[in-house]
Amino acid sequence: MTQTTAAQSLGAWLKEADRCVSTWEARWGPYEPHPSLRVDHEALSASYEVYVNRLTGNYPFFHPRYAGQMLKPPHPVAILGYLTAMRINPNNHALDGGPPTAAMEKEVVIELAKMFEFPINALGHLTSSGTIANLEALFVSREEHPDKTIAVSQEAHYTHARMGHVLGVSVENIAADTNGRMDLEALEKALRSQKIGTVVLTAGTTGLGTVDSIAEAIPLCQQYGARVHVDAAYGGFFRLLKRSEILDPVVAKNLDAIKDADSVVLDPHKHGLQPYGCGCILYRDPKMAKHYLHDSPYTYFTSEDLHLGEISLECSRAGAAAGALWLTLQLLPLSADEGLGPILSSCLEAAQRWHAALEDTPLRSWGKPELDIACYYPEAKPNSVSAIDRASQALFENSMSSTMNPVFLSVLRVQSADLRARIPDVEIDQESVRILRSVLMRPEQANFAESLVDSLVGFVQSHVR
Ligand SMILES: *Cc1c(COP(=O)(O)O)cnc(C)c1O
Repeated sequence: MTQTTAAQSLGAWLKEADRCVSTWEARWGPYEPHPSLRVDHEALSASYEVYVNRLTGNYPFFHPRYAGQMLKPPHPVAILGYLTAMRINPNNHALDGGPPTAAMEKEVVIELAKMFEFPINALGHLTSSGTIANLEALFVSREEHPDKTIAVSQEAHYTHARMGHVLGVSVENIAADTNGRMDLEALEKALRSQKIGTVVLTAGTTGLGTVDSIAEAIPLCQQYGARVHVDAAYGGFFRLLKRSEILDPVVAKNLDAIKDADSVVLDPHKHGLQPYGCGCILYRDPKMAKHYLHDSPYTYFTSEDLHLGEISLECSRAGAAAGALWLTLQLLPLSADEGLGPILSSCLEAAQRWHAALEDTPLRSWGKPELDIACYYPEAKPNSVSAIDRASQALFENSMSSTMNPVFLSVLRVQSADLRARIPDVEIDQESVRILRSVLMRPEQANFAESLVDSLVGFVQSHVR
């Protein structure tokens, strides 16, 4: 078999997609599209030119020098899968909306459940996003424990507090340690009140990429009768590497423990190589379907099979999203040794090399990355929080705006007390401090880490002078 980078041949495959869908369309007999749908070719050319020009205003998310937020383009195979199905535009709300992509959704959900070692009959479906998937998890939590609260770490994604508000459930904040990990003593103290119905743990915090102490927290929650929901939107796929040397053994143990959670959320549109519009919610207990029951007067009529719309809060959802994920997993399976595993492993390597490259530079690592997010800050004079804050912002602006050699970063705001845990004699003259954050989601970045850090050091030195 020939190995091609799918990107090189995407153009040819898109022609093939057009041919296949056109052949299928032709089966139904010829017809003329309505004149009202016609557009003028020259007008399209002109508008399209404006369109693509405006799109050049994006940061180069695909490129190794983009080490900013959690985003990258989909894999070419996902693009092919998505565009092919999108031509047909199936709706995975109901089986009638697209029987083949609904079947593919059920298949990929089983694959994802297997990745977490959830039972084979676990309940789950794709969603438009991690936000919606978490909303559904918290909705089920509320239905299971209507009079209780939801506990989330102060480092959890802000969506949990927001969705608690949407659902009318009170959300309790649990302190985190200086590495962004939920403090289990604080959790136990809160659990003792007997008011907590569900605890949200995070596998890969959005800020630092920290994995909560899931293995210890789950038995603790069970002891107090609380449900456990794991928000693994970002970090869930790294569970594939739980036996790999590249993952810290404690992190591996905590990712392993997700198998004992009541529900878990995963974002295939983050580390699953998919375009936006692909989140996933899984429940260990299939009986949770009862909370979704509803009557619909018009959608379900061709079969008695389970309709995804019966177990989802969303109605219309892109069948193309399920199709794209299905096709991607055929070629890049959920495995440690092939497919997704080696991709994720290189991302971890990128973050670890970034961390190591900071040594003996004026940049200091926030700590060894647990996943593929590296955080760091410049040394500053005077040795105060405000000076470090200003130096971080200056480095961010200089490296982002460089025309010759830009490095795209993000800024993270952390508590000054957490900085003091790293610099004991730092003067605390403001409550929080900005540091720098690099999400290294591109496997190519393993070979770029040192040179990107070099560029940043250059920006620090030119700024100091
Ligand atoms: C990205 C993310 C979310 C939100 O998911 P969206 O897909 O952006 O809606 C929630 N939790 C965590 C941990 C995330 O990383």
